[in-house]
Amino acid sequence: MKKVLLLCLPVLLFACSSSRRATSQPQFADNPVVAHRGAFKKLGLPENSIASLRQAIALQCTGSEFDVRMTADDSLVINHDPAYHSLPIETTRYDSLLRFPLSNGEPLPTLRQYLLAGLQGNKHTRLVCEIKPSPAGKERAAQIAMRVLQLVRELKAAPMTVYISFDHHILTTLLRADPSLNTQYLNGDLPPEQLKADGIKGADYNFSVFKAHPEWIASAKNMGIVLNAWTVNDAAGMDLLLDNGFQFITTNEPELLLEKWKKNR
Ligand code: MG
Repeated sequence: MKKVLLLCLPVLLFACSSSRRATSQPQFADNPVVAHRGAFKKLGLPENSIASLRQAIALQCTGSEFDVRMTADDSLVINHDPAYHSLPIETTRYDSLLRFPLSNGEPLPTLRQYLLAGLQGNKHTRLVCEIKPSPAGKERAAQIAMRVLQLVRELKAAPMTVYISFDHHILTTLLRADPSLNTQYLNGDLPPEQLKADGIKGADYNFSVFKAHPEWIASAKNMGIVLNAWTVNDAAGMDLLLDNGFQFITTNEPELLLEKWKKNR
């Protein structure tokens, strides 16, 4: 009996470790829905709040997008605009910003809090992290990008994270640190061929860019560049993008797009 157990032990250990590995890997939701600044609109939640992120996760969106900026004392915070309650984020300390809670009472989230909330019970919703260009210039923006990367690594959020930016230099800075990072470019001024050459994985462009350059849809598909369009909130636009096989559609109306996706499958 003892011998049998000893013989079985390596098999059992392997089975345990591989099942642990399997459960710790992301299994992204099979839909194209990226909730823009979280799923905020339908429930009247503040944009870029932890509540809107949790709602996107609860809806089983394949991604939830949010915007990252850095304060004067180097805190990474989640906010779209360069100013928060008229205070310029980059030249204001985090504790001064904390005086103004979000409309649902949440404190202005830090990136650490946001990522931790996004990792909680979530293996299906990508954390789509937009690093905003810095008003202080390219060098500061690159510093911010590296701090974001460091924190994502520290919190072991890497498999769940997609980095997006309007600032090409932010993405190439990240890719110099790790060419395998999942990155998408937002600014709409580069053809898929250029993104491929730069090691950028996706074209996450305003819907109007794809209307002006329909040929980019085909060339992106040919080269394995992921297609994502923003911010598509109407049914006709969603239909057009679904018909064109976009892998991701970024929207303020994730419930509507999820419904369409389920019907069209
Ligand atoms: Mg954004």
